Amino acid sequence: MLQVGDKIGIVGGGQLGRMLAIAAGRLGFKTVILDPQPNAPAFEFSDQHIIAAYDDAKALAKLASLTKVITYEFENVPVEAFGSLTNGIEVHPNTKALATSQDRVAEKTFFNELGIKTAPWFDINSPQALDEALEQTNGKGILKTRRFGYDGKGQCRVDTSKPETVQEAKKLSQETPCILEGFIDFTREVSIIAARSSQGAIETFDIAENVHRDGILHTSTVPANINQKTQEQAISIAHKTLNELNYVGVMGIEFFVNPEGDLLVNEFAPRVHNSGHWTEAACIVSQFEQHIRAVTGSPLANTVRHSDCIMENLIGDDMDKVPEILSFSHTMLHLYGKAETRQGRKMGHFTKITPKTS
Ligand code: AMP
Repeated sequence: MLQVGDKIGIVGGGQLGRMLAIAAGRLGFKTVILDPQPNAPAFEFSDQHIIAAYDDAKALAKLASLTKVITYEFENVPVEAFGSLTNGIEVHPNTKALATSQDRVAEKTFFNELGIKTAPWFDINSPQALDEALEQTNGKGILKTRRFGYDGKGQCRVDTSKPETVQEAKKLSQETPCILEGFIDFTREVSIIAARSSQGAIETFDIAENVHRDGILHTSTVPANINQKTQEQAISIAHKTLNELNYVGVMGIEFFVNPEGDLLVNEFAPRVHNSGHWTEAACIVSQFEQHIRAVTGSPLANTVRHSDCIMENLIGDDMDKVPEILSFSHTMLHLYGKAETRQGRKMGHFTKITPKTS
């Protein structure tokens, strides 16, 4: 177990790294953050930083020499880079979780082998494979790159009644390995933020209901409008996933809810997750502190929620709304300190709390 004053290494200095560094600081830990950008948002709150590529073996070795444990804020860190660390430093979440989340085929296979449902999916390595798969999905689906997709990037919707969508998908399938997912007619999207400690204890936060715009999370509302059975399914899937991966840290799992109230896993993230930002306003301990507790070998906190809430992301020009948001009652604003506002860029979020109803 790390002691007050010990240093945690964080790979990635974006908003998630920044919020992890703030949480670590509140628990008395120091942070060293590695990021290629000289003005990475997390540097402002870290004790030390290293400006280098995520796969720079020398820089990672330096990070490992300065710290007692390494964690990361995003899942596209090359697994091999962590493998090159030879001083026995612990990396949490482990590389099995990281590798599984990086490849949609590995991820879907992992869940399906555990008996957990996903959208029907097909490994696509050629335009012909796409034609064959579309025959089995009634001509509709979403083609996604196997790797490096996020916030709806690296995806296209396909509908054989619209030939231009097929053309676009074929082009993508020639550029990079993909999967085709059958189109899920979901009633809502929900997610669960769960944590597992190094002793194997598990805590889950309440389930959030998420609305996306242009493939990017727009709002998370808690409690989600789902029944007890659906909630229990989400908690059970989280336990199975964390235990199977022998996981330490916080994980976000996103689901589609079908009309029968059953869950299909969309994807998981081996890190703190945008749909868990509400926890900082509506719980005593946020997902960020929970992650820091887990990776430092500390006991997990109770995840009890004291309020209902809605979290909304501030994307690009939404920053213009900041003065108005500051006048809202019972609203926590959190800006990420990004130097430049760009279209589609996550700039901050705010969470409004209301009295707890359930
Ligand atoms: P992803 O990047 O995989 O999380 O996808 C971004 C968003 O696209 C999801 O949150 C859904 O709103 C939508 N989406 C992704 N996959 C599917 C699917 N198989 N069926 C229907 N909608 C989907």
